[in-house]
Amino acid sequence: MINIDPSAFSTLPGTFHARQAPTPLPAPYLVAYNVELAAQFDLPNEPAEPLIELLGGNRPPAGAQPLAAVYAGHQFGVYVPQLGDGRALLLGDVTDRHGQRHELQLKGAGRTPFSRGADGRAVLRSTIREYLASEAMHGLGIPTTRALAIVGSDQPVYREQIETAAVLTRLAPSHVRFGSFEYFHYRGMTDHVRRLADFVINAHFPTAATGDERYAEFLREVVERTARLIAAWQAQGFVHGVMNTDNMSILGLTLDYGPYGFLDHFEAGRVFNHTDHRGRYAYANQAGIAFWNLQALAEALSTLIDGDAREAALQRFEPVFVKAYGELMCRKLGLERADAADADLIDRLLHALHDGRVDYPAFMRRLGAFRPHDPATREPLLALSRAPEALRDWLDTYAARLATEPVPDAERHARMDAANPLYVLRTHLAERAIRLASDARDYGEIERLRRLLARPFTPQPGAEFYAEPPPDGAGDFALSCSS
Ligand code: AMP
Ligand code: MG
Repeated sequence: MINIDPSAFSTLPGTFHARQAPTPLPAPYLVAYNVELAAQFDLPNEPAEPLIELLGGNRPPAGAQPLAAVYAGHQFGVYVPQLGDGRALLLGDVTDRHGQRHELQLKGAGRTPFSRGADGRAVLRSTIREYLASEAMHGLGIPTTRALAIVGSDQPVYREQIETAAVLTRLAPSHVRFGSFEYFHYRGMTDHVRRLADFVINAHFPTAATGDERYAEFLREVVERTARLIAAWQAQGFVHGVMNTDNMSILGLTLDYGPYGFLDHFEAGRVFNHTDHRGRYAYANQAGIAFWNLQALAEALSTLIDGDAREAALQRFEPVFVKAYGELMCRKLGLERADAADADLIDRLLHALHDGRVDYPAFMRRLGAFRPHDPATREPLLALSRAPEALRDWLDTYAARLATEPVPDAERHARMDAANPLYVLRTHLAERAIRLASDARDYGEIERLRRLLARPFTPQPGAEFYAEPPPDGAGDFALSCSS
């Protein structure tokens, strides 16, 4: 069925976790199953009853010792000393075809000692959102935890409304968070900080040195991975929504999909999390927040790394972020040659997109068809803006810039198509899949979306609808024109 080994994490002392069996999910049924990921683990295309039972938390695998990991974290800037897996359970480790080990977690599998009074469940809606987002990010080539399956149940779960329960199967080489280190640091458990650092370094940072220098190298590598991760988020318009340190992966993966969103219209201050009234986790703040979180991680490692080395590691953030973001944006703009003025070109574009409330994915994708000498190719781009003047000026500059590029138009177009997704997990598309699943038990849309998002750069016949900006954008546009 599925070979699950006791997790490497479970070999850490009992202070790192609590043993906890899943709470059975009444009358479980399969909602989603990621055949492509399943194949990586030699799992069947069609999961049989025992596997569904296992992924629903109703049949703990033989020999496994399910556990909930403990961690802490800064939530909206405030330190919370006691968090942990409140509804996720680590069943064990699974090994893929390439020999890479992954932790297999069930999210929504019931209460744990870290549930803090909550029910330990996840609702179908949120598991669908995490399932689709993980696979969309993977399709974009952005580091992320993966999602294997959703098992649903008619068991009611009480949120703002009554919803139903579901369990998501999540995979990652490690789910250790910045907050895992903070937990032990602020309790003065220095030996545990070292133990956890050694555990993570030995398994996931193989090139780190030996001796005490390894900790500084480890921190620097986390800083650099995080900088590259956020650069990719920015370039593809992803807003995480809850960048608390307990949601920051030590491996530089996108972790814990809650109130995330992908930009449709470009709005620098866009917030997707309704409870984030001050916009702490707005799109344009993500690099600054990531750096803030890395400072918190550095503090948690301060018993292992001296102040100068911590500072040196943190100083890597900005150059790595700027370089990675610049490279990604230049690829999206079809610019091969390095040019000192490109940073300004990108900046001006973002202002023009913001001012015109331009749909970001659609604009970037359509920009590939722009031909400097063909005025007709400007129209589909200008049509996306409610303030086309600034965009018109920008296209003039861009046309001049393209004239210095050695690559022929058609080839540039093909390369830009490989950097600008046609299919993006727009909020209205995810909502549609959720509505069909919740209201009509129609789960086909989840799988249809997942398949499109797994290859977001490649046009699929009959999928034109999925490449369009949200339909209500038109209404929004008309309303604002009159102001
Ligand atoms: P999140 O904001 O989803 O990253 O969760 C923050 C903390 O709350 C983590 O410790 C979660 O495990 C916990 N948590 C969130 N939702 C639930 C729930 N329904 N039941 C138990 N714990 C939860
Ligand atoms: Mg979390």
